[in-house]
Amino acid sequence: MAYKILDTCISCGACAADCPVSCISQGDTIYVVDAAACIDCGTCASVCPVGAPVQE
Ligand code: SF4
Ligand code: SF4
Repeated sequence: MAYKILDTCISCGACAADCPVSCISQGDTIYVVDAAACIDCGTCASVCPVGAPVQE
């Protein structure tokens, strides 16, 4: 299952910079994951300072 980003995201950009398949981008209010491209590596959850990325 892909990861998704909760609305607790503070838009720091750390996850987008470290995602190995570059499937995270800045949305209107928070960062968002392209679920079809996510390889479920968990890197975003590891680098996020507020724990916003979670496995769906
Ligand atoms: Fe990117 Fe990995 Fe997070 Fe999926 S789990 S969005 S591939 S960093
Ligand atoms: Fe949002 Fe966390 Fe990604 Fe920063 S690392 S943009 S707070 S999900």
